[in-house]
Amino acid sequence: MNLDALWMPFSANKTFKQNPRILTSAQGMYFTDDKGRQILDGCAGLWCVNAGHGNERITQAIAEQSKKLDFAPFFNMSHDIGFKAAERLVEMAPKGFDKAFFTNSGSESADTSLKIALAYHAARGETGRVKFIGREKGYHGVNFGGTSVGGIGGNRKAFNHLLPFVDHIRHTLDIERNGFSKGLPAYGAEWADELENRIFTLHDPKSIAAVIIEPMSGSAGVIVPPQGYLQRIRDICTKHGILLIFDEVITGFGRTGGDWATNTMGVTPDILNCAKGLTNGTVPMGAVLVGNEIYNTVVDAAPEGAIEFAHGYTYTAHPLACAAAIATLDVYRDEGLFERAGQLAPKFEQAAHSLKGLPFVKDIRNIGLVAGIELETSAEGLGKRAGLVQQKCYEAGVLMRLTGETLALSPPLIVNEAQIDQIFSTIGEAVKAVANESA
Ligand code: PLP
Repeated sequence: MNLDALWMPFSANKTFKQNPRILTSAQGMYFTDDKGRQILDGCAGLWCVNAGHGNERITQAIAEQSKKLDFAPFFNMSHDIGFKAAERLVEMAPKGFDKAFFTNSGSESADTSLKIALAYHAARGETGRVKFIGREKGYHGVNFGGTSVGGIGGNRKAFNHLLPFVDHIRHTLDIERNGFSKGLPAYGAEWADELENRIFTLHDPKSIAAVIIEPMSGSAGVIVPPQGYLQRIRDICTKHGILLIFDEVITGFGRTGGDWATNTMGVTPDILNCAKGLTNGTVPMGAVLVGNEIYNTVVDAAPEGAIEFAHGYTYTAHPLACAAAIATLDVYRDEGLFERAGQLAPKFEQAAHSLKGLPFVKDIRNIGLVAGIELETSAEGLGKRAGLVQQKCYEAGVLMRLTGETLALSPPLIVNEAQIDQIFSTIGEAVKAVANESA
């Protein structure tokens, strides 16, 4: 196979070729690689294949749609399946979300949500609300808006001229007080108060358009919010007329042990972003959900017959993505996968925390069917030790995501108890082997 032409995303392109890991097919819980090995998918691809790989209802719906209507333009035109997909998504969205704007990714959802926030304030005559606040370690994709409000150092540093008018508050990782927490950690609700301090000391509250937050930060290493933290952020935003955006690109569609983090954590944003699990990872699609108040404000501010929101992508509500989304949401409902995630969560938690006490295991964090195992950083540098563990797990037939020094687990929601045991025992063996080799 010629490995020369593809510029791989978020990869070490120069060293990849020394030991290329190449996947060739996938079914259910497993990938197969080019050496014929079966690899248990411990991360649902990239937190997206929640119903498992190759689900026939989904793949068939896409195939049939491709023969029926392969593409449709917008500009005062749409198609039946676009309306149906939006209706289905809104039906299963948290209460108060009435409209869906489709995108093609989580990154596009992030940028779309920021633009909706600006459009909303402008429509109400609050044109001075132009600033955004994100968080350190936050991840909202790779487009300009998302990178700017994101707070993962490496992703920002490479592009040092990002959007102006953006500030960040602290993340909530506090291993000293909350180490080895199960579910929402006990300490740290007060980190939310930094938002209010900052908007008074560095900004005018009336200059802030929106605060954007992942209810659980995945890409920074599974950071679960402390009890009470999100509610305090919600209250501060409400008090100052600031829109709160939840980026549920990872946490949506069952990941936290229920349908949405908004519901499992009991705090409702003004704008909700999703992607990934929306189509089970099959066809790129994201969405931004808002309530009627935001939609009507933006739409009613425009003259009759004018374009109200000058935004959209060629592939917005792409028919194949819509077919995939409808089938995926049907599968989640008919197979009870969100309920299954909730039922398996205690087993998953117990298996993850069974690794406590192994060499170099610095912290374990979890909620629903997601867990992060953070290792101590070795003298070789950030991510090197966890990288060795990840490689050993792959060779032993289990795939997981590596974020910094954290091994992140988020299997498809169809995972069974034996597979959960396999995931964590494989990690345990790999950690011990790496410790022995470095002794
Ligand atoms: N937002 C969050 C919370 C994410 O985790 C991700 C991707 O991991 C994104 C946005 C970006 O999504 P995409 O890669 O589909 O652009």
